[in-house]
Amino acid sequence: MMSANPYANLSLRVMSVQRFSLHDGPGIRTTVFLQGCPLHCPWCSNPESQPMHPVQRHKRDKCSGCGKCTSRCSKGAITHGEDGFPHFDRTRCIGCGECEQACPNEAIAISGKTMTVSEIMEIVKRDKDYYRNSGGGVTFSGGEVFMQPEGLVTLLEASKAEGLHTAIETCGQTSAEWLQRAEPLTDLFLYDIKHSNSEVLQHTTGGNLDRIVKNLKLLGSKGKAIVRIPCIPGFNLDEATIRGIFHLALQCEVEQVHLLPYHNLGADKYAQLAKEYAYTCESMRNEELEPYAEMGRAMGLSVQIGG
Ligand code: SF4
Ligand code: SF4
Repeated sequence: MMSANPYANLSLRVMSVQRFSLHDGPGIRTTVFLQGCPLHCPWCSNPESQPMHPVQRHKRDKCSGCGKCTSRCSKGAITHGEDGFPHFDRTRCIGCGECEQACPNEAIAISGKTMTVSEIMEIVKRDKDYYRNSGGGVTFSGGEVFMQPEGLVTLLEASKAEGLHTAIETCGQTSAEWLQRAEPLTDLFLYDIKHSNSEVLQHTTGGNLDRIVKNLKLLGSKGKAIVRIPCIPGFNLDEATIRGIFHLALQCEVEQVHLLPYHNLGADKYAQLAKEYAYTCESMRNEELEPYAEMGRAMGLSVQIGG
């Protein structure tokens, strides 16, 4: 029998699928985090999602050095080091997740596993009753969702075929063509603008502000976009920069802005990836952003702290 969706077997690289999300759009949602990002924000709370290839996080504090992961990996991607811990060769890993399953201590987390659209939708559909009762749905996030544009559009089509509310979290760094293909299938765009100065944005994150703003203009008139500003002390958290981002939102006909307070919840992941975490400041309290929210409201925007 033919599948109802001819692309159901299309594969994507997935960081994780999180059920019962409350911060990625309205109501109770399932958030599908896709692997790969064109930016390299140094405060990223999901650094394992940045490369397109599979990434292993190893939690040394949980590892007993039993070696079960080493013997389970058929690709020779794990060796047992002289220090008694497993060592990963990222060039050999295919993201099968076997080592993660073999570990008795949950000391390994694989990001970038391959999943088909059918497998993803199988999980998404489990909570349809919760979506219906709470006004929720499915959110596609990342990484950056448009790094896998064909898979993203297919997931959106499959979600709409199930009657689900759909949201996308994006940094906006994609082609106008893919954005316009996704737009009719998407009810809400949570659209990050991280800086108002193109050189600073480019230098720190690799983002192209010109392209990001042009893309937002395509969405603004549709009334589907909320601009989100991750507020990062020492990067963008000053009056001139936040005011500049508010102006960009207004230019693009977007009225709603969410200010996201900096948090350091992803800091441990950097150690698990043997990477340095560049931000050492404390997580922010919502109240610290109130003066910025007031500034935006005075400019005619609807500003919320948190998202
Ligand atoms: S995910 Fe698969 S290929 Fe990669 S290290 Fe684990 S077992 Fe080996
Ligand atoms: S299976 Fe888990 S506990 Fe055992 S060596 Fe590997 S990571 Fe450590």
